[in-house]
Amino acid sequence: MTPSQSRWLDLADDALGGALLSRTDARSVLTAPDDALLELLAAAYRVRRHHWGNRVRLHFLCNAQSGLCPEDCHYCSQSSVSTAEIDRYPLLAREKILEAAGRAAALKAGTFCLVISGRSPGERVFGKVLDAVREIRARYDLKVCACLGLLDAGQAQRLAEAGVETVNHNLNTSERHHASVCSTHTFADRRATVEHVKAAGIKTCSGGIIGMGESDDDIYDLAVSLRELDVRSVPVNFLIPIAGTPFANRHALDPRRCLRVLCLYRFVLPSQEIRIAGGREVHLRSLQPLGLYPANSIFIGDYLTTQGQTAQADYAMIRDAGFVLETPDGAPFDGDPLAGAPPSYPRAPLPMPVVPPGVPSGPPSGISPGVPVG
Ligand code: SF4
Repeated sequence: MTPSQSRWLDLADDALGGALLSRTDARSVLTAPDDALLELLAAAYRVRRHHWGNRVRLHFLCNAQSGLCPEDCHYCSQSSVSTAEIDRYPLLAREKILEAAGRAAALKAGTFCLVISGRSPGERVFGKVLDAVREIRARYDLKVCACLGLLDAGQAQRLAEAGVETVNHNLNTSERHHASVCSTHTFADRRATVEHVKAAGIKTCSGGIIGMGESDDDIYDLAVSLRELDVRSVPVNFLIPIAGTPFANRHALDPRRCLRVLCLYRFVLPSQEIRIAGGREVHLRSLQPLGLYPANSIFIGDYLTTQGQTAQADYAMIRDAGFVLETPDGAPFDGDPLAGAPPSYPRAPLPMPVVPPGVPSGPPSGISPGVPVG
C-alpha cells in the first residue's frame, strides 16, 4: 500500500467512525496530486459503500416557474441582474406539473423536485404548489422535494401536511463568501429556512455551488455548516458560467477538481445522500462515472433551464460502472429502466461543451445553470 493510499483510507475510517475531517486534511484532499486521485476515490467509495452500497438514487427536476426573480444571485440566469436568454414564465398550470411528474415516474426517478424561481412564494402560488403536491402524491409512486425559496415556519409546516418529503434550500457557499455571491439576502436567511424545514419534520436537502470564486476553506466550511445542520441530502453543483450573469467569466473547474470536491463532501458528510447536480456533464465530462464513487445520486432528465445528458446515457453510465438504480423505497432496481418511458426519451445527445481559449474548462454557449435555486 502506498503512503497516500494509507492516508486516504485513514480518513475513510475516521469518517466511518463519526469524526469530523480536519481543515488540514480537507486542504490535502482538495490538493491531492493527480496520480493519487484514484486512491482518494477508492477511500471515499469505502464510506459511500458502507452507507449506500452500490445504489444510485435518481431525481427529476421540474422548473415550474422560471425567471422573474427580484434577487441578485450572481450565478443565476433567473435573477434580476441576469440578461441571459432563458424562458421566463409564471407558475405552470397544474396539468403541466402533473405531466412532468408522470415523466419522472416513467424514468424511475425516486424523487420529483418541484422548483420555482423567486425569493419566497406568495400565498396564491404557494396554495397552487400545495394542490399540485397532493395530486402528485395521490397519482404516482414518487417522493416530492419542493424548492420554493425562503420559507417561514408556517409554510414549512403546511408543506409537511401536504406530503412533501423533502425541501431543498441550498446554503450555496460559506458564510464568509456569501456576500460575494448575493446581496439581496444573507447566509443567515438561507440557514433559517433550512432550520424551519427541519423543525417541521421534513427532510432537509441543502448543498452548494462550486466554482464561484471561493477558496478551499470556503468549500470545507460549507460542508461543515451542512453537517452542523444535519441536512440529509446534499446537491453539489458545479457552476456553469452563463453569459449575461455576473459570474459569466468564472472558469475555475476541471474534472479532477470536481472529483476531489465530491470526495471531500463524502468524508465530511459520510451518511448523507450526496448528489452530483448542475454542471455534471459540463465539468466532469468523461470522468462522470468516477463521480459515482463518492456520490450516490444524480438528476436524470433536464436541469432547470438546460438539457442534461440523455436518460439512456445515464442508465448506461450507471450500469457500466457496476452500480444499480435505487427504487423510491430504497431497494435496488434491476429491471429495464426505460420500459414505460415516454417516446421522447431518449433525446438527442447533449452538445459537447465549448471551452473558451485560455481557460481550463467552459460552458456550452448560452447554457443556463441547471441548479436548484431559491
Ligand atoms: S437562485 Fe433563486 S433566489 Fe436567487 S436569483 Fe435565482 S431564482 Fe432568484
